Amino acid sequence: MAGLVPGAAGATSRGVPMGQRWQRVAAAAGLLSPSGDPQPTIFAQMSALANATGAINLGQGFPDTDGPDEVKDLVKRAIDDGRNQYPPATGVPALREAIAEHQGRRYGLALDPATQVIVSAGATEAIAAAVIALVEPGDEVITFEPYYDSYPAVIAMASGVHVAVPLTLRPARADEPGTDGALRFAIDFAALERAATARSRVLLLNSPHNPTGMVLTPDELMRLADFAARHDLLVITDEVYEHLVFGAAKHLPIASLPGMFERTLTVSSAGKTMSFTGWKVGWVTGPADLVGAVQTVRQFTTFAGGAPFQPAIAWGLGRDEFPAALAASLEHRRDVLSAGLQEAGFSVIEPDGTYFIVADGAPLGFADGDELARSLPALAGVAAIPVSALCRPGDSDGPFRSLLRFTFVKDETTIDEAVNRLIAARLGGRRR
Ligand code: PMP
Ligand code: GLN
Repeated sequence: MAGLVPGAAGATSRGVPMGQRWQRVAAAAGLLSPSGDPQPTIFAQMSALANATGAINLGQGFPDTDGPDEVKDLVKRAIDDGRNQYPPATGVPALREAIAEHQGRRYGLALDPATQVIVSAGATEAIAAAVIALVEPGDEVITFEPYYDSYPAVIAMASGVHVAVPLTLRPARADEPGTDGALRFAIDFAALERAATARSRVLLLNSPHNPTGMVLTPDELMRLADFAARHDLLVITDEVYEHLVFGAAKHLPIASLPGMFERTLTVSSAGKTMSFTGWKVGWVTGPADLVGAVQTVRQFTTFAGGAPFQPAIAWGLGRDEFPAALAASLEHRRDVLSAGLQEAGFSVIEPDGTYFIVADGAPLGFADGDELARSLPALAGVAAIPVSALCRPGDSDGPFRSLLRFTFVKDETTIDEAVNRLIAARLGGRRR
């Protein structure tokens, strides 16, 4: 991100000595200013900018419509029924059983809810605890780039080394949405192979992928499984958008491939599946030894939480109708936003899943996505996330520099209004 580089020596503007762990965490996430002061995450920064300017917030990914009333009613009842003290540290049995049932029904994974499932404070805590539990100082953790913002931060917490392998672009196939010449994100397997070393320890995957919306195909997953086995890697897989896939795309957990269960921790969350991102109920599943290692750390990061939410989510997880309806409506909203962004002059890279679409500001004359994202609320009354904030800090010539991420998890009227504003702003004309 422009102007934000890892601090090295001296003291911050508030007199705090540099070089402490929290600063390395901020620096790894591109959030440490040259003076050593930390910034909040890009999602928090852009939501604050949207609020301050009255811009339509297509930045931070959260739905503007809550999940099902039945689930909310169950929470209210649970509070009234006295479910207000610490739940068991691994999660209430009903939710652990519902998670095991969900993984069995959808993916054929047979899990013991007593030893192979734990509930966490969102996917964020599960990923952090897994990385802290299993990464030794100097161990390399491979992710693709762009990546979700918490990954480099938690790798730094564990004193691991983040190895980011840039995604590549390929031409869209005839059966994929988009116009002639449309591009799609894909894995660069040659670059992945070059990234592996004797210190490689963890492959941290995310599919469906934030920010690109890429959904790994069975063929790609098989190649990744082969890669993990050959290099004897643990796999931590972030599948929070598992239900939110479009068209012919299907979500397949890598843990369900032959030989992969024993080396894989699978993370998900009710935030995206049930549209309750503020409840922060997530989970991690896998073989008992790995899950036990995560729990050893996790019992000291929150111990437990979300007592009244857990039984309600257990009920909701058994009902695939809700996420299925959400995915269908999101697919339509993707199409509306995609068409609108193109009308406003962006080129887009169509997603197969998630809440997000990536748009390129270069055709409008904006080579620097960070600069465009920070000025877009003033220029057009719309907020978005610069993809460069989800890439290695300081890589100002990276291939993703001119890209912005827009969310379509907003009601259609809001998306229409954002599109109208982007078109009316005549962004291309401003640079000519
Ligand atoms: N991983 C990815 C890819 C995400 O987009 C998010 C944001 N929802 C999370 C993890 C965090 O999930 P939670 O809110 O359940 O902690
Ligand atoms: N997952 C959300 C996004 O990608 C943000 C969550 C957060 O703000 N930490 O927009």
